[in-house]
Amino acid sequence: MKTITILGATGSVGSSTLDLVEREPERFEVLALTANCDVAKLAKAAVRTNARRAVVADERCLPALRDTLAGTGIETTGGAQALLDAAAMGADWTMAAIVGCAGLEPVMAAVERGGTVVLANKEPLVSAGDVVLAAAKRHGATLLPADSEHNAIFQCFDFDRPEGIRRIILTASGGPFRDWSIEEMRGVTPEQAIAHPNWSMGAKISIDSATLMNKGLELIEAARLFPISHERIEIILHRQSVIHSLVDYVDGSVLAQLGPPDMRTPIAHCLAWPDRMATPMAPLDLIAIGRLDFEAPDPERFPALRLAREALEAGGARPAILNAANEIAVAAFLDRRIGFLEIAAIVADTLDRYDPPAPETLDAVLAIDAEARRIAGERVKDCVI
Ligand code: NAD
Ligand code: MG
Repeated sequence: MKTITILGATGSVGSSTLDLVEREPERFEVLALTANCDVAKLAKAAVRTNARRAVVADERCLPALRDTLAGTGIETTGGAQALLDAAAMGADWTMAAIVGCAGLEPVMAAVERGGTVVLANKEPLVSAGDVVLAAAKRHGATLLPADSEHNAIFQCFDFDRPEGIRRIILTASGGPFRDWSIEEMRGVTPEQAIAHPNWSMGAKISIDSATLMNKGLELIEAARLFPISHERIEIILHRQSVIHSLVDYVDGSVLAQLGPPDMRTPIAHCLAWPDRMATPMAPLDLIAIGRLDFEAPDPERFPALRLAREALEAGGARPAILNAANEIAVAAFLDRRIGFLEIAAIVADTLDRYDPPAPETLDAVLAIDAEARRIAGERVKDCVI
């Protein structure tokens, strides 16, 4: 039996993880499931999986969770500390699927207990990559990448002979506006931006996919996860989302991982690793797919890519500022307080206005994250749409 905790169990990745875990109840035992405040969905999942504990990060939602789960024997807790306690229960396998830097401290709590921590939640790696990786090393935790691109690279990357690797190539679908002009993008609504052509995902990452900031965050994530210098990480547009990423070797061999655009494949890879487990997905039908297209991304229409690469190259606090400003700008766009093109503009502006020294501790990262959010929030107030 593998004990499992899912942080962010009610979200898109959390639900895909539950789907796999629930198929093999004899193999997986659920310790804790957490959510921000989606009590109904969390309680249902906790009952279905006979979880030991259900946790809401927002303490105001705890009374409703208690009422819903009364008499089931499932423990209920709420609040920021309760979330950290759940992450630190010592599960063999923890899925980190909270969205944004809100997942950073829970990820650290899980990492500090050792075990396997599976990262879908990419923002903590972007903002605090060094801190998270050092903690994993110190506590003997195994980090596995569930983000589809990084999982693809993980499957193709020869960690014993990294000197044989020339480049890694991240694929991007290009999002819903890949063929749109800047003028056309100016007036898009959150609904249009969320409608991703290939993947069904949470709101924040869907907007990041539309601005291509998601690929920028993934560029930084890849630089943290794989022993390769950042100038050897490339991004190409591949609109079918069938090839999830590639590793290019010095002899000219290029290894790629292909699969359906469904997170259950990379999650299953992490859930069974180093073994394999079956998923409900039909075998990939290459004849029906017919063709695989590749294009260069356009940095003019998608400035987020350039901002992310600059932040990665400069290092220090820059990736944390990029991420924090982006989280504020995406939330403001979803609230219809700013336009779509202002997302990247606010990120650029926050990076211009704030340049603290490199953080070396978790607290220093959290302080930079908070200040970058404050600055980006001020900039949001200046926008009139
Ligand atoms: P989502 O919005 O669907 O779900 C987020 C989960 O986190 C929910 O359970 C929510 O209740 C919880 N949550 C939200 N705010 C919280 C807070 N402040 N404190 C505690 N919990 C909170 O998001 P998602 O699409 O599942 O994405 C989760 C993470 O995985 C993101 O970092 C995203 O970039 C990454 N990711 C997602 C996909 C995908 O296909 N959805 C693919 C690759 C990577
Ligand atoms: Mg991805």
